[in-house]
Amino acid sequence: MPAEILDGRALATRIEGDLRAEADTFAVMFRRRPRLVVLLVGDVAASASYVKGKAAASARVGIESEVVSVPGTATTLEIVSLVKAIAAGEHGHADGILVQLPLPPHVDATAVLDAVPPDRDVDGFHPENAGLLSQGRPRFVPCTAAGVQRILIDAGIATAGRHAVIVGRSDIVGKPLAALLAAKPPRAAAPGQRTCCDATVTLCHSRSADLASLTRQADILIAAVGRPKLITADMVKPGATVIDVGINRVDGKLVGDVDFDGVRDVAGKITPVPGGVGPLTVAMLLANTLLAAELNARR
Ligand code: NAD
Repeated sequence: MPAEILDGRALATRIEGDLRAEADTFAVMFRRRPRLVVLLVGDVAASASYVKGKAAASARVGIESEVVSVPGTATTLEIVSLVKAIAAGEHGHADGILVQLPLPPHVDATAVLDAVPPDRDVDGFHPENAGLLSQGRPRFVPCTAAGVQRILIDAGIATAGRHAVIVGRSDIVGKPLAALLAAKPPRAAAPGQRTCCDATVTLCHSRSADLASLTRQADILIAAVGRPKLITADMVKPGATVIDVGINRVDGKLVGDVDFDGVRDVAGKITPVPGGVGPLTVAMLLANTLLAAELNARR
């Protein structure tokens, strides 16, 4: 029987409904809307399209947003100064500040991301937020990792004691996801509350030997690499849950890191590309922006 398809769009729509209600309550309590400022450097079409999608999603849930654009020739110093100016309110109130990646190659991305104040870092890339996550006290969790967590929770996938194999060790997906899945359950978890933690995690990367022997052990297999069809049916344990984070453009079409048609016959559950993890990434950005607004408003 082919795997059940986990519909990220439907889940993101449900989450947006909840966030809309939260944003409306926030607006009544604090007499303003939560606000996100996005910094776009250069004119890469894919980045512009992602930023447009984030602005549209913000509008849907009642979060104000502004896009600040600078030419791709801007220096690291100029971009860092701009991030500081945004934080100081020069582009209106900024509960959340997001720097759209990738930055042009001549820009020191680490210096730019470090300039985002950690209490407005809705992408969760600042070292303070990465440190909090690794200590098991998450504040702003990187959106894609948080999105994968929500998919697993929503689908009722048990993670405690299960083997999760993550392929890809980036700071924005693989590493934070490993921290989330390996964490102890949150202390505040209500009895019966679904969690996504207590897994045994294997984090694979480009130097991992015999990748297939590792992926075949996975009860939960997550691919976050950026290589079309890297994960084939023979690399998947029958019945496993397969989450495809990859976004690759092949012949003008978006495809994931998983050979969907082949793996679907082996896996128990699988996310599609597009329509799987992507919509959740945006929904988690909105959730982080609301969290930032609430933290800022109560200060
Ligand atoms: P990255 O390039 O920073 O990291 C890729 C990782 O894959 C590295 O850790 C590398 O060691 C590993 N890798 C490369 N080749 C490998 C191989 N042959 N075998 C095993 N591991 C290998 O990428 P990233 O930013 O983490 O993004 C990964 C993919 O996820 C990309 O396709 C990206 O577009 C996509 N992505 C999707 C979303 C979303 O919302 N769905 C968000 C972020 C990234």
